[in-house]
Amino acid sequence: MHKIFTADNFVQLDQLRALLLENGIDCMHKGESSIGSGAAGGEVPPIAIKNELHVFEESDVEPAKALIIDFLTAHNDRSDWICPKCGEKIEKEFSDCWKCSVDEPD
Ligand SMILES: [Zn+2]
Repeated sequence: MHKIFTADNFVQLDQLRALLLENGIDCMHKGESSIGSGAAGGEVPPIAIKNELHVFEESDVEPAKALIIDFLTAHNDRSDWICPKCGEKIEKEFSDCWKCSVDEPD
């Protein structure tokens, strides 16, 4: 079991888990599921809920991390943009126009 990521929240973690499964990487959410597993009588131990994503195979660690970084980058409210000055299409990785150096508009 290899921890690859700690998500900010469960929604994000669920998205990432779906992403990895879509790409054929077997993974599981570890954290919430451990709560109560050893607690008899329904008493929940006072441990913090962790939104950790784990993969089973060590060979999946790097590709899984790469997918997650791609996903987070793509969902960071950034997309390809058009330079307002020269109309050039700029890839989202760049924050200014490679052609005329105009900054990306807000
Ligand atoms: Zn430009």
